[in-house]
Amino acid sequence: MKFFDAHNHLQDYRPEKKLAKAMLAAEAAGVEGLICCGTSPSDWDDVLAVAAKYKNVTPGLGLHPWFLKEGAPGWLEKLEGLLRSVPSCVGEIGLDGGQNATGQARQESAFLAQLRLAKTLGRPACLHCVKAWGRMLEIIKSEQPGPFMFHSYGGPAEMVPAFTEFGGYFSFGGAIMDPKREKLRRALLSVPADRLLFETEAPDADAPGWRGGPAGIAAIVGAASAILGKPAEEIAALSLANGNKFLGDMITRTA
Ligand SMILES: [Zn+2]
Repeated sequence: MKFFDAHNHLQDYRPEKKLAKAMLAAEAAGVEGLICCGTSPSDWDDVLAVAAKYKNVTPGLGLHPWFLKEGAPGWLEKLEGLLRSVPSCVGEIGLDGGQNATGQARQESAFLAQLRLAKTLGRPACLHCVKAWGRMLEIIKSEQPGPFMFHSYGGPAEMVPAFTEFGGYFSFGGAIMDPKREKLRRALLSVPADRLLFETEAPDADAPGWRGGPAGIAAIVGAASAILGKPAEEIAALSLANGNKFLGDMITRTA
């Protein structure tokens, strides 16, 4: 089986030896494509270095709502320059109404600026959204960006059709393995087959005890196939095709 890990932070593996090991395991597991996202100017260069070294990694660059303070004057210009320099996604960007959030107005202005940049450059956007789903939908409707994905989708199943209509993809991580996450499983079941993605968020992850690295995508796809009642081969192939479609003609993979 071949897999696509739609969201991770490979730049956070320290020391680099750990990343090399994780990438070897991912290759052995059949991981064909990965999207590695930065979260602030302090890790953008590291993300680009990872993507330069591993050709099946597509970089994402953005200022995450948790790290707005790290956006020193000029950050948006720096971001645009880097995005233009290499095929890349915009992200991880978004809105967070949870405890890690800073001021909503500042969040929205940073998010809007980056979402508009994605549209201008014709790049897909990797989105983070926590407890801000209503506002997120309003923004998506009014901005109409290109393709976008919600990493670790945590919104209601009922909102899936509206986001789908505007180009949304939905990525699910290890949390779907938790049988107590009923709402999450319902959301997974509601996503159209051609918008479904999976992710490990390596090296961290949101499911308790989940530390599989990008190779762990195989177990996540396995869990999804059980929930969806379809063969794992089918779900793996589908999500790989969706990942490639999301990236469009930017795919850096050579094999
Ligand atoms: Zn992330």
